[in-house]
Amino acid sequence: MSDLLATKQRQFNEAMERYEKIPGYKLIGRFVSFTNVSLQIFLAILVVPQSIGLLSQVLTFGLAYVLTDFVNGLVHMYMDNNDDYDSYAGPLIASFHLHHRTPRYKENPLHIVYYNESGSKLWLVFFLAVSVVAVAKGIVTGAAAYGLLYFSVLSSVAEVSHYFCHTPQNKLVKFLGNLRILLNIRYHAQHHLKDNYSYAFLNGLSDPLINRIARKFYAGYKNTTDLHYARYEGPGTENR
Ligand SMILES: [Zn+2]
Ligand SMILES: [Zn+2]
Repeated sequence: MSDLLATKQRQFNEAMERYEKIPGYKLIGRFVSFTNVSLQIFLAILVVPQSIGLLSQVLTFGLAYVLTDFVNGLVHMYMDNNDDYDSYAGPLIASFHLHHRTPRYKENPLHIVYYNESGSKLWLVFFLAVSVVAVAKGIVTGAAAYGLLYFSVLSSVAEVSHYFCHTPQNKLVKFLGNLRILLNIRYHAQHHLKDNYSYAFLNGLSDPLINRIARKFYAGYKNTTDLHYARYEGPGTENR
């Protein structure tokens, strides 16, 4: 084993120890869930009274769908390739990597999954805070305001879409997966089988572009971050 790998494995275990021992790290997840869902509701209250017509609604929703898949896929790519375990964010990064070790989720009602998994999206808190201020002040209105709302809600829906790939699927979810409206279970399996591949997880539509970006900028996770938890024997992420 290389010295670098041994160091990373030690740093990973230390980061997970901090995640388990320092209550703040698990509290961050709960705070992020609460803040994201509250701000989404608040944004909806500001946006929904605005009328933009059916055609604009459909176009805005479609554009938001593609952009959500792309941006969330990029964040996933960044996180899967991040091994900065010694930083303040280290415990959150390490616990994130355990989604490759234990992809299966605890089964829960969907609104609970939506709420809990929104807690892994710290970046969305900042996005929503700026969006709420911009819409409340009238800086962003109409279709653009709906775009912000759809993007933020679909970012949480993407987590539910990924949840469906690691829990037993009912017929409707299978149907939506086959239509590629949600993430297709066989398609997403490639992310876990191959390396540096198919990071998008709302429906995977933007993967051809993300795969190219990943190949250009990252070495992948199979020979890096996936090996860092090889000597970790503790519990997994809270909701898994
Ligand atoms: Zn991943
Ligand atoms: Zn997965």
